[in-house]
Amino acid sequence: MSITEPKVASAAATPSSSFAALALNPSTLDNLKQLGYSEMTPIQAASLPIALAGKDLIAQAQTGSGKTAAFALTLLTKLNPRRFAVQALVLCPTRELADQVTTEIRRLARAEENIKVVTLCGGIALRGQRASLEHGAHVVVGTPGRIMDHLERAYLTLEALNTLVLDEADRMLDMGFFDDIATVTKQCPKERQTLLFSATYPEGIEKLARQFMREPVQIKVEAQHTESLIEQRFYEVTRHNRLATVAQLLNHFRPISTLAFCNTKQQCKDLVTYLQEQGFSALALYGELEQRERDQVLAQFANRSCSVLVATDVASRGLDINQLEAVINVDITPDPEVHVHRIGRTGRAGESGLALSLASMNEMGFVGKIEQYQKRESSWHKLDELTPTGNGPLLPPMVTLQILGGRKEKIRPGDVLGALTNTEGGAAYTREQIGKIQVTEFCTFVAVQRDLAQAACTKLNAGKIKGKSVRVRLM
Ligand code: AMP
Repeated sequence: MSITEPKVASAAATPSSSFAALALNPSTLDNLKQLGYSEMTPIQAASLPIALAGKDLIAQAQTGSGKTAAFALTLLTKLNPRRFAVQALVLCPTRELADQVTTEIRRLARAEENIKVVTLCGGIALRGQRASLEHGAHVVVGTPGRIMDHLERAYLTLEALNTLVLDEADRMLDMGFFDDIATVTKQCPKERQTLLFSATYPEGIEKLARQFMREPVQIKVEAQHTESLIEQRFYEVTRHNRLATVAQLLNHFRPISTLAFCNTKQQCKDLVTYLQEQGFSALALYGELEQRERDQVLAQFANRSCSVLVATDVASRGLDINQLEAVINVDITPDPEVHVHRIGRTGRAGESGLALSLASMNEMGFVGKIEQYQKRESSWHKLDELTPTGNGPLLPPMVTLQILGGRKEKIRPGDVLGALTNTEGGAAYTREQIGKIQVTEFCTFVAVQRDLAQAACTKLNAGKIKGKSVRVRLM
């Protein structure tokens, strides 16, 4: 079996970018409209007609391209809500991605009655997950290792499955999941549709396709980030002034949220220590953090109460943060594809973004490779152009309050919002003063405007959520 030549999809090559042109039912179309999905993204326009026709698909697409909706709409269209069995399985490399995928599928499933989506990832007790499965699940999203655990214990069966999705397949292969994917796939019925999404095409993808897919159609969408939206600037640094230059860039450009990439974990640690000493709100994300710490870091960065997230490439996988004003390449990556992936984190959804890269003399070879890969010259800027702007230190607009209580206590975002907007015990806040509310298994993170953080914390500690007193702390 051979994989067909990639069809390079572009807006012009796509007959229509309206969802209405697809075989979707009216309630789904309505829901898409309500979600503000007025047109298909290029990856959706290229993949949906093929996927909805039931064909196997290999799509080259990155986070932010709208790939999740492409496979979610496909699997939902085939789903029979009255059949209480797992009909679709999505394998993801990380828990964060699995959570995002689950959220997106639920959003798109709103149009139908009662479609149950269950997330199965490591780091959480099997027992609760087993109970969720026993209550009936139509769609399962999870990481390969944990899915295998459930299959081995027969908590999960895949006999009724008709769609298998491998999301961010290249990342799963990088993380050594080939054998796990193979084991899970062998337990799926042969009669099924397999959809594979991947940002890059390492060798293993071909192997997966050969073993587990049927005449897949391969599609590729040209990079969605138009050059003009991401402004790239390069600065020459030395070993001695590299970390200080990051602080200078932050003080000069004053981005609200910055993702700073380092090549090593040690560099991450050094930079975070340095930035914190300089009064910045910075947190590190690297491989060996415990899941709980990782959740806390990500929650604070995503809700805009931490200015800088310093990460390695591995740790930042699967991260989907909208509204990222700047990316800083603290070290230049030797892999030009990784560079493009890094800078593509900013400038999402038509917003402009800033990509700042620091290079020392011995990284100039890497910069050269990036230039060749991007087919354009780098724009170099001088460090003495960087002057502090604004009043005082750069502070994030929000502060996170951590409520000790989460899904286990059946807390929902609406309960927290209610506790902050009611008029009992002090000021009632408006929706605008409150940011993202994220409920996790054991705790809840709520962002509030910086100037009212202390008072909001006091109000929550004094009041009740779901009729119970809760403990709340400022992070
Ligand atoms: P993804 O690449 O799947 O992570 O999606 C990136 C973001 O784009 C998600 O927040 C989606 O909710 C959003 N999105 C997906 N499809 C569309 C669309 N057709 N129009 C607008 N937003 C979309």
